[in-house]
Amino acid sequence: MPVVSMQDILADAFGRRYGVGAFNIVNDLTMEAVLAAAQETRSPVIVQVSVKTVRQMGARLIRLMFAEMAGRVSVPATLHLDHCPDRKVIEECVAEGWNSVLFDASKLTYADNLAQTREVVALAHAHGIAVEGELEAITGVEDGIGDRYGGPVVALDLALRFMRETGIDSFAPAIGTAHGLYKGTPKIDFERVSEIVAAEPRPLVLHGGTGLSDAVFHELIARGAVKVNISTQLKITLADGFRSYLAAHPTEYDPLKLLGAVRKDVQAVAANFMRTFGSAGKAA
Ligand SMILES: [Zn+2]
Repeated sequence: MPVVSMQDILADAFGRRYGVGAFNIVNDLTMEAVLAAAQETRSPVIVQVSVKTVRQMGARLIRLMFAEMAGRVSVPATLHLDHCPDRKVIEECVAEGWNSVLFDASKLTYADNLAQTREVVALAHAHGIAVEGELEAITGVEDGIGDRYGGPVVALDLALRFMRETGIDSFAPAIGTAHGLYKGTPKIDFERVSEIVAAEPRPLVLHGGTGLSDAVFHELIARGAVKVNISTQLKITLADGFRSYLAAHPTEYDPLKLLGAVRKDVQAVAANFMRTFGSAGKAA
């Protein structure tokens, strides 16, 4: 079906309280496998791309590839730019007709973040494009010592003010999750999700999804963190897929067989997340 807006996908997920997986793809194989998983499970899906991948492939090629591939499945799909501190890349993706961007100004001061995020929202909304906002850097989990979140957390009233005054469509708060692999059991601040959603009812974004338990996913989604980012697990599945196929088939040289096997692995992992998040069967 034609590409759907991020606003539509998140509104349905937030209203019916299921999670939508936002999967970081790195090439055509991973994009197609994630879309195939969405089709298999009848799930709305967010295809998400890092700035690094955009710099390598180009915003236009990714958008064209996405439009073509999303057109071949019959579930809602939308294209999102992940953590982007670079306004030029955001402008490029907006100009190319992407559906959503995460302006990551978490390294700026509160005032600068607020001012710049407002500008990004004005630009994006003029094109019907959604903006995800972020105040606190989502960093590694603590190694026994240090800050609970690995970085300072903004007071609730300032976070709410940021949401209201910027007009962002979704917000990624620090709640104790981290990018990469967890070394221990993360301490999740479920209450912060509920407090934000109660005061400012709009979709929250769960970063650092890889490694969380099903129970944690269910709890956070129920409280309103309905965009669920998965990056690390897809990278692991991709790399391990190549390793295991090549180890099992040392004399096989047909690249399509190799890529087909890896694609199957990525699709299976993505489909599994979609079932866990409750998006399976939610596509009309
Ligand atoms: Zn993230």
